[in-house]
Amino acid sequence: MEIWQEMVRQSIHTVDQLVEKFGLDKDVASKLDKFFQARINPYYLSLIRTPGDPIWLQCVPDEKELEDIDAEEDPLHEDDMSPVPNIVHRYPDRALFLVNSQCGLYCRFCTRKRKVGNSEKISMRNLESAFKYLSEHKEISDVILSGGDPLMLTDAMLEKILIRLRKMEHIQIIRIGTKMPCVLPQRITQELCNMLKKYHPIYVNTHFNHPWEITEESTKACTMLADSGIPVGNQAVLMKGVNDDADVIKELMKKLLSIRVRPYYLYQADITKGANHFRTPLRVGLEIVDKLRGHISGLGVPHFVIDAPGGGGKIPLLPEYVIMRTDDKVILRNYKYNIYEYPDVKDEKKVTTPENFLRKSGSTKIIRKKKTLPKEIKLPVLTD
Ligand code: SF4
Repeated sequence: MEIWQEMVRQSIHTVDQLVEKFGLDKDVASKLDKFFQARINPYYLSLIRTPGDPIWLQCVPDEKELEDIDAEEDPLHEDDMSPVPNIVHRYPDRALFLVNSQCGLYCRFCTRKRKVGNSEKISMRNLESAFKYLSEHKEISDVILSGGDPLMLTDAMLEKILIRLRKMEHIQIIRIGTKMPCVLPQRITQELCNMLKKYHPIYVNTHFNHPWEITEESTKACTMLADSGIPVGNQAVLMKGVNDDADVIKELMKKLLSIRVRPYYLYQADITKGANHFRTPLRVGLEIVDKLRGHISGLGVPHFVIDAPGGGGKIPLLPEYVIMRTDDKVILRNYKYNIYEYPDVKDEKKVTTPENFLRKSGSTKIIRKKKTLPKEIKLPVLTD
């Protein structure tokens, strides 16, 4: 057994352990266990500094989860977009391939908790029909291995999957969605990296949410992946009490860049059963992004997105930078809230919305000469 497997085996997962280690009431712990099992491995447990801190909140079951268990189990309607078991085909050229139900840690905010940890829901027996679907759908050029966590498979099992995918010529890119570099970095071994790099282009999307998760061990894991030619991107989830603070996110993004992980997405928390207490107002995310753009390298600024409920896919959100727009100019504000006029190219086909013209900025400083700003807002004729 490898070290990481032994660490999974040593995870806190029983009701009695939850009571003893975290002081949960036994009745509550039993209900929480039935709702969504716990798995807290010794590495991630060691990152907790005090009860209720950002690491604790992500992994220790909380009574608040029982307050909204009537919410949707599958808020992103993945199951509606599953043509065969283990495949989610939402976008034309990409498909999600669920290869395993297990994870190195069970996150309390997980969107896929209806399946995670349940080998009946993500069954290895269904891999054949998934391979068949992928081989017949030539429009799919990008496959994202997910689960659960694909890196809970042994190297040999994972390699078998990669070999099958690499035999399909239309599949150009293989991405691996894994939280292991963050929650159990001991899983990233040189043997794993040597195997993965035989099947390039391989990308890894990982999931750090808080700067305390960047440790000597996770740095080593990400460095090994990067040294193997694997671009590593990060998908963080914005969560109340965990990282809903611009300074925390800024520190996280800067630390990620320093370990060669590229910030990719910052997700608005999904409306998932048992995770409502993590949700933040949209304003919080927009203000955080506003405090990143221009204040740290653009490399460190993730896309802030909502994964639209009902399966609409990712929708990017940006703070307002366009204050006003006419046929031939745009009034913009920069990261310091200074205002600039940009002469636009006249475009007969321009489609615009009146609302954009009516927004006021909270600007405190105007750089352009006042006389060049329009005295009144004229709405152009909508062409479409
Ligand atoms: S690692 Fe991913 S799939 Fe597994 S519990 Fe955490 S968020 Fe869910």
